[in-house]
Amino acid sequence: MGLSSGGIIINFIPSIMTNMKEIKGLNSQEFITRARKLAETYRVANDKEFRLKDYSHEADDDSWIDKKDHAQELLEIGVEALSEMQDKLYAHDKWGLLVIFQAMDAAGKDGAIKHVMSGVNPQGCEVTAFKAPNAEELDHDYLWRCMKHLPERGRIGIFNRSYYEEVLVVRVHEEILRSQKLPEELIHEDIWKARLKDIRNFEAYLNNNGILVVKIFLHVSKKEQKKRFLERIETPEKNWKFSKSDLAERKFWKEYMDAYEHLIRKTATEKSPWYVVPADNKHYARIVVAAAILHSLDSMGLSYPKVTEEKVAELQLIKQQLLAEE
Ligand code: ATP
Ligand code: MG
Repeated sequence: MGLSSGGIIINFIPSIMTNMKEIKGLNSQEFITRARKLAETYRVANDKEFRLKDYSHEADDDSWIDKKDHAQELLEIGVEALSEMQDKLYAHDKWGLLVIFQAMDAAGKDGAIKHVMSGVNPQGCEVTAFKAPNAEELDHDYLWRCMKHLPERGRIGIFNRSYYEEVLVVRVHEEILRSQKLPEELIHEDIWKARLKDIRNFEAYLNNNGILVVKIFLHVSKKEQKKRFLERIETPEKNWKFSKSDLAERKFWKEYMDAYEHLIRKTATEKSPWYVVPADNKHYARIVVAAAILHSLDSMGLSYPKVTEEKVAELQLIKQQLLAEE
């Protein structure tokens, strides 16, 4: 791991620093191939030994910090590639994609969703944010509210938090579990193991139905979170983003990281991988997120539906009629 290891990080990021022209000259397939390689650095699938500490919070290349313009330009190219792929996904109308964002507060979920999806046709995309469940939701199994927002074929669904909260905040604060109206005998020490197995099976079921799942963990450091909290407190326009409970959750940092490590180990699969995205640099994180989504869309082998010869002939006829109009 590590972006600066011998400067070889997949020949992608460092080369952008020096050679943005080369990136611009790539055709879309070449660009996607590079994006796939970048995404693979942070991709976790079937790793029973997965350790969070093996993954960095930083892009590991200081030059990034000051290269906001390059990052912005690169993200724009990535967003354009995503927009083209989404168009194909929609026309192909067989696969669907669910993108899940999970992170500690202030890790940049909202910004990543806003920037990465900025070029995507809103008709082919739905974003759903999951907060603490309301009374009606608590009257159902925990997947119920999420199922209602799963993407249709041809579309991208984005979950800003998700059913993974059921093995995160609910695990860290077990009193929440007790308020979930579950029968007493179902609350036992193996409940987390059972939930992780159910989630894994649920995602396998989605995969078997043509819905791929991309799970993004924005891996921000505790130090960077403190910096962002202070910024939210000190900037009047950002005050609304800060709530006292954010500070309370920060005190459980270690418990959250343990829960993340465990769930990634248990639920990262080939068709529903996790991406552990270094999130201390927002610009870099957004590029990696775009690359991860491109990676998944590319694996679907999307193409525009083939038009039959009769249809081509019919279109030609219509064309002639239109041209013949006064
Ligand atoms: P922001 O970056 O704006 O703070 P957010 O996703 O943290 O975005 P909030 O309204 O601050 O949004 O928080 C939502 C809260 O809902 C989180 O603390 C999350 O842990 C909690 N939550 C989500 N799902 C569940 C759940 N199933 N049970 C209990 N709490 C949940
Ligand atoms: Mg919050």
